[in-house]
Amino acid sequence: MKILIQKFGGTSVSTEEKRKMVVKKVLKAREDGYSPVLVVSAMGRKGEPYATDTLLSMIDSEFKKENPLSSDLLMSCGEIITTVIVSNQLQNVGLTATPLTGGQAGIITDNQFTNAELVRVDTKNLLNLLSENKIPVIAGFQGKTEDGYVTTLGRGGSDVTASIIGVALEAEAIEIYTDVDGIMTADPRIVKNASLIDEISYNEVFQFADQGAKVIHPRAVEIAMKANIPLIIKNTMTESLGTVISNDETDNHLNIITGITHLSNRTQINVLKDNNNISGFLNLLNVLADAKISIDLITVLPNQKMFTICKEDFDKLNDLLKLNQISYTSIDNCSKIAIIGSRMQGIPGVMAKIINTLNKENIEVLQTADSNATIWCLVNSLDTEKAIIALHKEFKL
Ligand code: ADP
Ligand code: MG
Repeated sequence: MKILIQKFGGTSVSTEEKRKMVVKKVLKAREDGYSPVLVVSAMGRKGEPYATDTLLSMIDSEFKKENPLSSDLLMSCGEIITTVIVSNQLQNVGLTATPLTGGQAGIITDNQFTNAELVRVDTKNLLNLLSENKIPVIAGFQGKTEDGYVTTLGRGGSDVTASIIGVALEAEAIEIYTDVDGIMTADPRIVKNASLIDEISYNEVFQFADQGAKVIHPRAVEIAMKANIPLIIKNTMTESLGTVISNDETDNHLNIITGITHLSNRTQINVLKDNNNISGFLNLLNVLADAKISIDLITVLPNQKMFTICKEDFDKLNDLLKLNQISYTSIDNCSKIAIIGSRMQGIPGVMAKIINTLNKENIEVLQTADSNATIWCLVNSLDTEKAIIALHKEFKL
C-alpha cells in the first residue's frame, strides 16, 4: 500500500469552496494509486467561529493558565469539527472516510498539556481503516495521554501531526496544503514578487521555519527528515507543483542565498563589565541558563556581553538581573532578520553586501551573527519590511 499524508491547514478548510478543492486533491491522490490519510486544522483564523483562537477567547486567561487540561480540551474542538465536515464532503463524492481525534488515530503523548511531546503512535486503528479502503481524517494538533486525557502539541501542531503519522505509517510523502504555492524566497505578505522555491533541503527549510517563516513547523521538518520522507508544500487552490523538501537537493540553484525570513518581538540586552561586580558579569550566562531564559545572537567580549531575548521573557530577565545586581541597557522591538543559504559558506563578501544594502536604506544594524548557512541581522522592527525588501532585491531572489 502506498500511503500519502495530506495535511490541510486552517485557510484550506475555511469555506465550502475551499473544502471542494480539498476533495479534489484527495480524489487525485486516489487516482494516482495512493491511500490518502488526511490531517486537518481548525477552520479559519481568529474571529471565525471554530478557529482555535476564537474558542480560546471564550475562557478567562486566568482559568486557562490554571487549567491547562481544560484549555487543551477546548483547543482540540476546532480540528475535531473539521474532521467530520470534511468526511461528509468526501462521502458526497462516493469516498468512505472516518473522522478521528488525534487520540483515536493512536497519537499518545506525555502529559505536558498545551505543549505535549509524542510518546508513541499506535497505528492499529489507522491500519484497520486503510485495509477496509477507508480514508482516515485525523484532527491535527492533538493527541492523548496514556490515561486518555486530550493534549495539544503546541502552535502549528497540525504540521507536526502530519509528520508523526507519515513516519508511523511509512508514507511515500507528506503533503502540506496551505494558502501559498509553496516555500517562497520571502514571506509573500512582505515581498510581493517573492519567488517559489521548487526544491530545498530539510536543513535549509528547518532554518526557515525555525527563524520565523510560519509556512511549516520546524518540528515537522525534523521528524520527516529523520525518516527521510519527502515533505511537499502545496497550494490547496492551485495546481502548482509546490516545494519539495528532501535530502537530494539538486545543484541547479543559481543563487547563493535561498531566502530571507525574520523573527519579531526580540529585545537586545547589553551588559558592560562592572568592576564592582565582576563575578556577576562572569556568571551572567549561567544565571540565565538556570532561569531557563533562552538567549541568542550572543556576543561575548572581555568587557561586554550582548544577546537578544524574546520580549515575553523581559520581566523575568529584569527581575533576575536586579537580584544579581547586574546593570544593563536594552533596546526593545527588534527583529532578527535571517538570510539563509547553505551555499554561502566560504564565499567572501556576503556579509559586506548585506551591510552595504542596509546602510544604503539608512537601516541601523544593531548586531550581526553568522553560521555556515545563515547570516542574522538585528534591526529595529519598524525597519523589518524595508530591510527584507531591499535584501531580496539586492540578492536577486
Ligand atoms: P496554514 O493555516 O495552512 O497552516 P500558515 O498561516 O501556518 O498556514 O502558513 C502559511 C503562511 O506562511 C502564508 O500565508 C505566508 O504568509 C506565510 N509565510 C511566511 N514566510 C513564508 C515563506 N518564506 N514562504 C511561504 N509562506 C510564508
Ligand atoms: Mg501552519
